[in-house]
Amino acid sequence: MPTMSTRQTLTVVVPAYNEALVLPQFHARLTAVLDALDMDAGVLYVDDGSRDATWQVICGLARGDARVAALKLSRNFGKEAALTAGLDQVDVDADAVLVIDADLQDPPELIPEFIDKWREGFDVVYGQRLARDGETWLKRATAAGFYRVMQWLSATPIPPDTGDFRLMSRRALDALHGLRERQRFMKGIFAWVGFQQAALPYRRDPRHAGTSKFNYWKLWNFALEGITSFSTAPLRVATYVGLLTALVAFGFGLWIIAKTLMWGNPVAGYPSLMTVMLFLGGMQLMALGIIGEYLGRLYMESKARPLYLLETFHPARGTVARTATPWQTAVTVTRPK
Ligand code: UDP
Ligand code: MG
Repeated sequence: MPTMSTRQTLTVVVPAYNEALVLPQFHARLTAVLDALDMDAGVLYVDDGSRDATWQVICGLARGDARVAALKLSRNFGKEAALTAGLDQVDVDADAVLVIDADLQDPPELIPEFIDKWREGFDVVYGQRLARDGETWLKRATAAGFYRVMQWLSATPIPPDTGDFRLMSRRALDALHGLRERQRFMKGIFAWVGFQQAALPYRRDPRHAGTSKFNYWKLWNFALEGITSFSTAPLRVATYVGLLTALVAFGFGLWIIAKTLMWGNPVAGYPSLMTVMLFLGGMQLMALGIIGEYLGRLYMESKARPLYLLETFHPARGTVARTATPWQTAVTVTRPK
């Protein structure tokens, strides 16, 4: 049953992968904030197939607090899928939903500011990092470069330095449900949805305990994901490079003809031949690679697999559980014993 109060309801979605160390403290800080709010609040933890005691910790929190819902995926699907799973299961009577990392890099104390902005009428309020404490200059530089490239390539302007720390109104959340692509570049997806959006600058704290799940290889792939999901500009690169090469080749051809007419042809040119061949070969392979990136993604989309699979769902007490998903009806849905 939906709660009978007329107060607005907020659901906080928290994806967690191997966060057993930090969760108790995270939950303490989060509930301190939620208790002080003038709205009803619930928390939905999504265990993204953790291999440590995360699920036990989450179930312990759910047992101790009726507002806590717990969702367990059948394996590790990655943060984007975990987030989607959580957003899909948000109570039907929630007026707003907030997404926050479990590692305390996004301070829960900012939640009231998100809510204020939302009440001013914004549908999406996204946290925007001011400083990146505890991150190396290399990560900062690569991140800056990435946002610049995205800005340049993508038709949907993606605000720089935003993470997944954000609040969404009911209608923004409902709109989001329509985007079921398997290549889930969430920053872009959130931006694509549109509506009135506001930035909330904040300082991102260093991770509290445990280690970041991201490394440079993952970040590189993440960047590829972002670019290919929101732009087809790279596919055009081959066209322009080809055009340019043809122009240069034409000029070079004219020059060779002129040279041969004036000074004869003393058959030289092995180095230039080699250079041109290797250069063109490289360009062709690169163009094929770019096409391959898109083709591979098209292939994955065409399989139309589910974005994630649920294992167990413990809804918060007194909420209407959306239960499973159209493709999964046999998920355990009870409060933890
Ligand atoms: N996370 C997840 N599944 C994963 C990787 C990460 O649910 O496969 C969660 C993680 O528990 C944390 C959030 O996503 O709550 C952000 O992860 P992390 O701190 O590793 O990323 P970073 O802050 O370094 O970008
Ligand atoms: Mg983190």
